[in-house]
Amino acid sequence: MVEFIHFRDIDPVRASSWVGKRVLSIDIDWAHDVVLEDTINLIEQAAVKACFFVTHETPLLERLRSNPLFELGLHPNFDPLLRGEAARSARDIVNDLARVVPEAQVLRSHAMTTSGRWLELYREAGITHVSNYLMFGDVNIHPFYQLNGLVEAPVFFADDGLLFQRTNSAVSFDLDVELLASSEGLRVFNYHPIHLFLNSENLERYSRVRNFLNDPVALKRMRFEGNGSRTWLSSLLRLI
Ligand SMILES: [Zn+2]
Repeated sequence: MVEFIHFRDIDPVRASSWVGKRVLSIDIDWAHDVVLEDTINLIEQAAVKACFFVTHETPLLERLRSNPLFELGLHPNFDPLLRGEAARSARDIVNDLARVVPEAQVLRSHAMTTSGRWLELYREAGITHVSNYLMFGDVNIHPFYQLNGLVEAPVFFADDGLLFQRTNSAVSFDLDVELLASSEGLRVFNYHPIHLFLNSENLERYSRVRNFLNDPVALKRMRFEGNGSRTWLSSLLRLI
């Protein structure tokens, strides 16, 4: 039985803290509460440790906080900065979110946008661990220290990454083999409530619901019946 751990458990110099272990993480990405609740139910059913990267205030934060198996992280969105639309600085974006989740020790930016200059902003906001680098399908991932001492735990698998890959045929990833294979590497998994709710099998499905993201009834009608993000999580958690 492979163990799921929290990001905060990872100490790069203590191999026993991460060798062959898994981290389950969820980027909540402003999901509707019904959609987020569905993800929480799936993970609680499996009773494993997980990290929820928070984008916004929601009453469900209290439910997440009440489960000792869950840790909460920050998921700041720097996209407006990149588009030249932000009236706020990177520091404001991090600190505003840290006020919503003051206990957060781990951070992954939306779209993994980051900068070496921001590492100190993260640290000053109480962050000790980041997971802001994708090493998709690499079986030898090990955590490492950023220059200011933050621990970086790269992502091994992301549902949206696989959906992108399927669209672009960039690299091949044998889902059935790789998702469950054991290895010495650290395996950080990243899922999104909207893809779990839709059981997305390709990015087209997500594009089709862009105007219904706040309509869970319509979203549920769009759920894919075959193999998709939801079944990938279920098989990882051995729920099916
Ligand atoms: Zn995101």
